[in-house]
Amino acid sequence: MTKSKLDLRDPIYHDDAKAREHLETLLWPDGPVCPRCGVMEDRITKLKGKSTRPGVYKCKDCRKPFSVTVGTVMERSKVPLSKWVLAAQLMASSKKGMSALQLKRMIGTNYETAWFLFHRLRECTIDPKRGPIGGNNKVVEADETYIGGKAKNKAFGPPPKKAAVFALVERDGEVRSFHVANVNSKTLRPILVKNASRKSYLMTDEAGVYVKTGREFAGHGTVNHSADEYVRGGFWYTNTVESYFALLKRGMMGSFHESDPVFLDTELS
Ligand SMILES: [Zn+2]
Repeated sequence: MTKSKLDLRDPIYHDDAKAREHLETLLWPDGPVCPRCGVMEDRITKLKGKSTRPGVYKCKDCRKPFSVTVGTVMERSKVPLSKWVLAAQLMASSKKGMSALQLKRMIGTNYETAWFLFHRLRECTIDPKRGPIGGNNKVVEADETYIGGKAKNKAFGPPPKKAAVFALVERDGEVRSFHVANVNSKTLRPILVKNASRKSYLMTDEAGVYVKTGREFAGHGTVNHSADEYVRGGFWYTNTVESYFALLKRGMMGSFHESDPVFLDTELS
């Protein structure tokens, strides 16, 4: 849905008809396709007429009308298409991420709408068919951290709640991170075994939460942080996942200081 450069003067960001055309070009480079039958060209007619909403087509096979948003996160949304397109573009072009509060200020919606847009857009960036990370002769580092505003920066109200984040990193590979309610083996194990191949060598710190689940993997190495043992033998370390957390926290401080931990509900990569 996004362009490589963000030019806010582009009409697709404020004209809903142009936004729709933009989406149609992206989704249907060869012309409209029925989302139910997959047919196109002479099987499709564009509906015209005063009572018809813009961008509606009809399939001659299933005889049902459709538009470019059918089957997407935008289907039946009351949010104007130009705002969807702009929100997606802003999200994709903000390297350190953008909070829903910032989006609200930039696109003139209320907070709930901004939050909803980002949440749905993030959801659809995840490939549901992707497999687990790691595998034979691969090392997967796992670790957890806490993210949240510092109490001293908050003038009123109770201290901000910290969000627990659990992350898995395949060395030289993909990162997946998850917002978890609590850090214990009951919450971490299902994430671990679903997202990391059990043929992998698991690398963690010595936290008890990994002891039992670690036995399910081809191997389990631990690093003893309390003994200042961060890198041993060039293999036993968890620096990859720790560097990822450092980057994540910098992004949180830069963009998410009014902490919006919900954004972690879906995996980041
Ligand atoms: Zn059809």
